[in-house]
Amino acid sequence: MVQDLALYIHVPFCRQKCYYCDFISFPYGREQVQSYLAGLERELKLYSQLLAAKRVRTLYFGGGTPSCLSARELAALFALVHRYVPAEHITEATVECNPGTICREKLRVMKGAGINRISLGVQALQDEHLARLGRIHQAGDVYRSYDLLRREGFANVAFDLIFALPGQSLAQWEETLKGVIELAPEHISTYNLTFEEGTPFYRWREEGRLVPPPEELDAAMYQLALEILPAAGYQQYEIANFAKGGRECRHNLTYWHNEAYLGLGPGAHSYDGKRRRWANESSLEKYLAALAEGRAPLAASEELTLELEQAETVILALRLCQGLARSRFQRRFCQDLFEVYAGSLEKLARQELLEVSPQGIRLTKKGLFFANRVFLEFLPA
Ligand code: SF4
Repeated sequence: MVQDLALYIHVPFCRQKCYYCDFISFPYGREQVQSYLAGLERELKLYSQLLAAKRVRTLYFGGGTPSCLSARELAALFALVHRYVPAEHITEATVECNPGTICREKLRVMKGAGINRISLGVQALQDEHLARLGRIHQAGDVYRSYDLLRREGFANVAFDLIFALPGQSLAQWEETLKGVIELAPEHISTYNLTFEEGTPFYRWREEGRLVPPPEELDAAMYQLALEILPAAGYQQYEIANFAKGGRECRHNLTYWHNEAYLGLGPGAHSYDGKRRRWANESSLEKYLAALAEGRAPLAASEELTLELEQAETVILALRLCQGLARSRFQRRFCQDLFEVYAGSLEKLARQELLEVSPQGIRLTKKGLFFANRVFLEFLPA
């Protein structure tokens, strides 16, 4: 049977590095983009047999900022990918865009290449917060680009938002949520700001120059999203993700179902859907050098134990509001979820963090706020 595959293409360029960001991205430059495209072509060639043997159902161009490429570079990127990936089975093709780097010409190239979903990095609707995050766009760009997206016929638009920003009040977060609801994208993601080592934000927090909001405010902001978004017709389907009917991100569902995905480009991660996962070199130079020598640009590769595969299957599924069906676990591992995790399930249910029914398990409302504590319970010692 031909298996489905989710394909992720990492486009590692940005116009400017945001202060909180630890994603793999480099300053945009025409020569660098040409080298990257040449490297990506080699990588696609290396995986051509695998790509031909699978049915690519979802395609996701993430970054970095794919939309910082010129229209001509985007056209070259899509043409390249479609030389190795037939379009006919793809049901969802997403491009991550920055509101500050899209224009009509680029959108027409995307549309022509079969892109049917745009993920827009909105983050906030107050210029002061966007500037403090180091974003290149302002709130006005969000309205302008969203209007352009609709006029160019994109019917599936997702907004990414960040909350718990330094200096952000609950009222400002509410203003962002309500402003976004008024625009009515099909999908909204709400992530709380994290301070990743190596970023300016991390350093500034260490130096006391930047103070994150207290935990209670962070929780109140999440609670507000849990109330406001469903009331406006956005059904929560994952800890941080909300969608209008049927517009859940299919590509990301592959991750949460712990199924196979292939990631290409610097720093991209892959998983065979069973016991092996691997990651690409995150340095552009090393990525290109390996491919120039005809090697896969691997930085790390790992064989998972059964215990780890089971734990990850549970943890990823618990991110989804529907949780994990006992039958799904049984089908995948030929073991009963309730026997494998008897002690943990009993403990978490007692703490009211997990809802356990004969059909399966899922986080309770309280569990949504303490998800990491729940996940730790399932990891092998
Ligand atoms: S645009 Fe996105 S990938 Fe680029 S620096 Fe900002 S957060 Fe990171």
